[in-house]
Amino acid sequence: MIPHWTEQREALHAWLVSEPRILIGCDFDGTIALLVSHADDARLSIPTRAVLQRLVAQPGVVVALISGRSITDLQQKVALDGVLYAGNHGLEMASYDGSTVMAPAAEATVTVLRQLLVKLVTALASIPGVWIEDKGLSASVHYRMAAEDSHAEVEELVRAAVQEVTSLMLRPAKRIWEIRPAIPWDKGTALRWFMNRCQVDSSATAFMGDDVTDLDAFRELPDGWTFVVGNESGPAARVGLHDPSDTTALLEWMADVRAAMW
Ligand SMILES: [Mg+2]
Repeated sequence: MIPHWTEQREALHAWLVSEPRILIGCDFDGTIALLVSHADDARLSIPTRAVLQRLVAQPGVVVALISGRSITDLQQKVALDGVLYAGNHGLEMASYDGSTVMAPAAEATVTVLRQLLVKLVTALASIPGVWIEDKGLSASVHYRMAAEDSHAEVEELVRAAVQEVTSLMLRPAKRIWEIRPAIPWDKGTALRWFMNRCQVDSSATAFMGDDVTDLDAFRELPDGWTFVVGNESGPAARVGLHDPSDTTALLEWMADVRAAMW
């Protein structure tokens, strides 16, 4: 069992007050926003929005939100200035000025992805509760609302379709199949990109996530702080969080510690 963040208060406090500049990276769904049955319904709570706003206003704090959602969807859901955003598991990244940068070669597969989605919509039409979200550079096949005994069939159909297209690959997430370009670019690459641009080392960076795709970001922080929400990803992270409201409590505490520094 990894320790809960409250058991690491001392070490975290020492870290927070010793780094002049820190980067706090964070996933969205399941990490700062509750997982809901339909992804469209996910919302940031008022306290979570407030603490993010507070953190970005602090000197020496960079906040980067890195999500599997499309970047425009993520930006609309969060709607805060001063935050760095990455969508599509890092394939698209936005700077403070709003300009978006795409991962190299990510755009090349947009056409084949569209063609694949047309086929998949037909193939999956007979399974109730499955829906496909077109996120531009990638797509999500959501099956959270489908009957448990249909999940294997969903996987089979999605696998068969994606296998035919070498430029695309499949990645699992929570009750989601992610179809994305087969390029070595993930949440970790995006986090690294932000760290380089902001000139923050991995030792001055924290990342919070709840899903397998967040392990890619943890990978970039061998000497940073990694937080996992829930226990499903096991000991991949240094510290554990119970749920999104616990993440908010941690962020509030971090903001308080940083505020007392100045
Ligand atoms: Mg998540």
